[in-house]
Amino acid sequence: MNGFNHGSQSKQPHFVLVPLMAQGHTIPMIDMAHLLASHGALVTFVTTPLNASRIESIIQHAKDSQLPIQFLPLPFNCAKAGLPEGSENLDTLRTGLHEFKAFLEACFLNKDPLISYLREHKTPPSCVISDTTQPWTGEVAREFGIPRLCFIGFSAFASLCREITVVHKIYDNVTDENEPVPVPGFPHPLEVPKNRSVLSFSPPGLENIREKMKEEDSKSVGLITNTFQELESPYIDSYKKLFGKKVWAIGPMCLYNKTLKQMAFRGNRASIDEERCLNWLDSMQDGSVLFVNFGSITRSAPLQLIEIGLGLEASRKHFIWVIKAGEKMPEIEQWLIEEKFEERVKDRGLIIKGWAPQVMILSHRAIGGFLTHSGWNSTIESICNGVPMITWPHFGDQFLNEIFVVDVLKIGIRIGVDKSIVWGSEKSDEIMVRRDDVERKVLELMDEEKEGMERKVRARELGDKAKKAMEEGGSSYKKIELLIQVVQERMLK
Ligand code: UDP
Repeated sequence: MNGFNHGSQSKQPHFVLVPLMAQGHTIPMIDMAHLLASHGALVTFVTTPLNASRIESIIQHAKDSQLPIQFLPLPFNCAKAGLPEGSENLDTLRTGLHEFKAFLEACFLNKDPLISYLREHKTPPSCVISDTTQPWTGEVAREFGIPRLCFIGFSAFASLCREITVVHKIYDNVTDENEPVPVPGFPHPLEVPKNRSVLSFSPPGLENIREKMKEEDSKSVGLITNTFQELESPYIDSYKKLFGKKVWAIGPMCLYNKTLKQMAFRGNRASIDEERCLNWLDSMQDGSVLFVNFGSITRSAPLQLIEIGLGLEASRKHFIWVIKAGEKMPEIEQWLIEEKFEERVKDRGLIIKGWAPQVMILSHRAIGGFLTHSGWNSTIESICNGVPMITWPHFGDQFLNEIFVVDVLKIGIRIGVDKSIVWGSEKSDEIMVRRDDVERKVLELMDEEKEGMERKVRARELGDKAKKAMEEGGSSYKKIELLIQVVQERMLK
């Protein structure tokens, strides 16, 4: 896919990618790094020692493929930020939101080391692509007189809604958090209660950082989104019109990963042997397996996990269930053993305790449905593999993704939760969804009758469009080329 022809080394644009160190943000930016490099750009990808060790296989693979990506592990100063050693990723934080602020502040300490590194680099940087939570990168871009582009990791639907929410302060005078609030200027009527809005992931104490983010976002030259034009045209176009910013829809970026190995390497090392997982899937009929996974940072309460397990068992459908309990929830390990759950479902269920090779699983012909927390990566990964969803949002943009998937795209059904949970409060024993409802929804999604089939057809059609967008000549492919070209032209001015 080396679509961009570079006359000489000096014309090669150099993109500096700065992610938020959380799997849901880092994974798509690693895909972005590969995409830019495979189109001919030089990429510096900023990371930390712990995060780099998690993606060793990816780093090695990039080296072996001779892709021009440099992974730059900058030391992460936990002590100075008052964090325990090793707190280098959102999923390592023990107290959820309380440490989140310190974690974000620690990221700011990367500014000077990054500037020093780039000053010494033989190819000067030409563009910074920064996660929106890293506003300090604005100063890096200004230091070198280069543009800064923002990456939010949301859909265009959610990005637009977020921007309108912030600019119009639509929740400022809202007292009832359940009251549906209209989102003015959205391409179609949309009402979102405060407790299902993007603000549901806006803890107090972050006001200063949020203010800086807003300021730097407004200075940035545009937005990069992990979506494609054919999927989200009205929202992409409205964003451009309302906020006068360029939007680069260059996804679904996960489609960069073509081989099973590449898919399996994403994020962390998988907690299951890929061969075993594939053999299990190979033994299943087409579209017969439900995949259950709630992303990288969402943790369900132990009692809730048990309800999910019992609901899956009662449905008698085949399933792969990813449980992220581990040390933090020994009661779940204990329940699995005491109740001999794995034994009870062994003819139809595969349980992965820890990290699953999600994209590898979703791309398998045996997968017919996905019970998801509706994070945008999981959603777009499901879309590009033509897999319909049961949506179970927890917080942040996830409720907006649910609206998009269920009401707009009509490729999913709701599990039926109506308010966000607070990230970090998973120890509580609150049960949001009972086992009977889990069973009912699983049967509804996996149904082979008219409605279920229509959902499947729509999902498959979107999957085909997604693949076309990323192929040579497709909309996202062309956007990547254009982005490189625009940055290159700025360099030559
Ligand atoms: N993921 C994975 N295996 C897991 C859990 C998550 O590969 O066991 C990947 C998933 O494919 C996606 C990302 O982690 O790329 C999660 O991002 P998402 O936006 O869905 O949710 P978040 O983790 O940010 O809540």
